[in-house]
Amino acid sequence: MNYISTRGGESLNLAQILTRGTASDGGLFVPESWPMINQQQLDELLTGEYADIAGRVLTHFGGDSLPDDVATSAVSTAMQAFAPPVGPPVTPLEDGLWALELIHGPTLAFKDFALAPLAEIIAQTLQHQNRQATVLCATSGDTGAATVSAFAHRQNLRAVVLFPAGGVSDFQRRQMTTTGASNVLTLSVDGDFDTCQHIVKALYQTDAAIKYGYTAVNSINMIRILLQTAYYFRSSGIVKTKTGKPSSFIVPTGNFGNIYAAYIAKQMGAPINKLIVTSNDNDVLPRLFDSSSMQGLQTVKTISPSMDIQVSSNFERLLWHIKGNDGAAVTQAQRSLESSSGYQLSASEMQSLMQDFSAMKCTEEDANKAMQYMQSRFNKTICPHTATAVHAARELTPDPGSETVIVETAHPAKFSHAVHQATGVTPAIPPHAAGLMEKEETFCSVPADLAAVQDAISDFFAHS
Ligand SMILES: *Cc1c(COP(=O)(O)O)cnc(C)c1O
Repeated sequence: MNYISTRGGESLNLAQILTRGTASDGGLFVPESWPMINQQQLDELLTGEYADIAGRVLTHFGGDSLPDDVATSAVSTAMQAFAPPVGPPVTPLEDGLWALELIHGPTLAFKDFALAPLAEIIAQTLQHQNRQATVLCATSGDTGAATVSAFAHRQNLRAVVLFPAGGVSDFQRRQMTTTGASNVLTLSVDGDFDTCQHIVKALYQTDAAIKYGYTAVNSINMIRILLQTAYYFRSSGIVKTKTGKPSSFIVPTGNFGNIYAAYIAKQMGAPINKLIVTSNDNDVLPRLFDSSSMQGLQTVKTISPSMDIQVSSNFERLLWHIKGNDGAAVTQAQRSLESSSGYQLSASEMQSLMQDFSAMKCTEEDANKAMQYMQSRFNKTICPHTATAVHAARELTPDPGSETVIVETAHPAKFSHAVHQATGVTPAIPPHAAGLMEKEETFCSVPADLAAVQDAISDFFAHS
């Protein structure tokens, strides 16, 4: 199985894209074709233990390019830190409606499902190669928390995480700053998320990139997406067994990674009907569905910060499928998006998009109402990101041919201020994350300046 760039260049195997960000032509790696699997192999992806399913997915996608058995053992080791370790709960709410709870990982957001096993795979691969590396990450909160948790205390790895000072919740900051791990450097940058991202991109271009082995685990990493595919196989399998019907997933979306994972499962034969994208006021994707036009606007701050995105990076992968795997056409569209004029999809491209997807925007008021509704109707406390999916579930006309599955992306305790404002309820912190608010914090405050960040990193290496 080879991976090619959405813009037509480079072709590499799974081991080679393990720690790669974008391809050298600026595109994203996509599998050349979907793995061909038979009915028995599909059944094995729809039932059974979560770790086995995730391991099998990686094997189908070229896991044999990794050292022996690394994929499967990495997933089962990583899952030990999850509550429950057997896989995310698929909870029935009412007739035809379910919740897929991706909120019980070590840092209480779905990103754990990808980053925890990815860290394990990278650590084992480096050990085989007798190498060391340094993971760099810019975060608006959840990715940084999941990265720190996944890479803390590892022998052959260091992690450097940049977050915007004041731009993450207290809970999220504490998840990054209280591990006490000597191999983690957490930097509070006097700037916004885009500034952090900008500095990280610049760090890759410095001499230190080779010296310290800078490595990317950002949300365009294909292995992260493949690992997320596992819970769509498993949950659609569970719903099919219980109801005989396929699932339609409603996914709170930012960078389009999580929902693209669902699309892969569907392409490989999982019983999935529609995929519904939800956004907050940063509605770049719902606008595309309404107007056929992809055009980012200024990002606005909302109560669901992990979805405050106007450039949905992974959508480039879907664009590549919609444009019939035409790298030149994708290059042209992305160039026009980057130069801020945006791009337009043709009628037939829109048709191919809407065959699998639809989209809905959720305003701040809608989100507050959705949190209140879940509290009063089901006594279930949800986070403001999940609220966007609940809003869509209530607005959409039910389809008797399929079951609706709301994807819960973060635990409400991570966003207790917004949840309390909407519902009056203070969400309880689950036992496996308890104690966070009392632990001692270690982090370094730096100005929004490349040289200052470089100094902080050299200092960290000198002392660790
Ligand atoms: C990252 C994140 C999202 C967006 O997921 P994408 O894969 O970027 O679309 C939604 N909700 C929460 C809580 C997140 O952390």
